[in-house]
Amino acid sequence: MFCDALCALKASELGDEHLLRGQGKIRLASTCPADSMFDAVLCSEHRERFDVLVGLHPMHACQEGLARLLDDFRELAHHEGIWGLGEIGIDGRIGQAPLHHQVALFCDALAIAREVDKPIVLHVVREHGQALKCLRSIRRQWSGYVHGFSGSVQLAKEYAELGLGVSIHPRVLFSMPQKVELYLDALPHELLFFESSYPSFIREGAVFTPAMLAQRLRVLGLASGGYDNLRYYPNKNGGADQECKQPRCAHIYGSTLGET
Ligand SMILES: [Zn+2]
Repeated sequence: MFCDALCALKASELGDEHLLRGQGKIRLASTCPADSMFDAVLCSEHRERFDVLVGLHPMHACQEGLARLLDDFRELAHHEGIWGLGEIGIDGRIGQAPLHHQVALFCDALAIAREVDKPIVLHVVREHGQALKCLRSIRRQWSGYVHGFSGSVQLAKEYAELGLGVSIHPRVLFSMPQKVELYLDALPHELLFFESSYPSFIREGAVFTPAMLAQRLRVLGLASGGYDNLRYYPNKNGGADQECKQPRCAHIYGSTLGET
């Protein structure tokens, strides 16, 4: 099944023009617990279309009332309608939140992820070394991925050693699609994801949508068939999709994350 690994809108805000046709799933990430509350309830009944995440973005690291936010984050993390935790992470560009505060918040979020044993979706900018250190200090094996990734293959491999995948930034699909080949060659395909990053990525004046992502992957030969008939790559660990005959057709769905 096709999956848009990160979309930042609420389920209630997504119109037909944004959605994938036919098979497909969209992961709805958030930056603070309040944004996930409604969707978690709504999506309990729409699990075939959406995975809802609860996030606590590093931009909140110095916010007043952070303890309360963390409490809300933990409470929602336990909610059965919440698929995973994200966005959480560290962002070297955020001037108003010093790094040590971000690291502390990230470690708190990771401890909660371990407590609830759910996948994580990471927002990491410039501070991958620090993020890897935090991840290793809490657990050696995680499930989930780093979103908006355009880093080196070596860096992706370091995350892979911890069980984490990378979700490729949509920019890469346009400006350096050959880089996707490098990721495909170097990583287990179940650790490679694609995302629309909706609504933050603008392409030719238009907001890039989950449906456009599916279309772009098809154009690049990373997904075969029409976009209501996306297929996936036979992954290296077995579980081959017998229908898929195209060698460059990416595995664009995380079989390691416990879905079918
Ligand atoms: Zn992000």
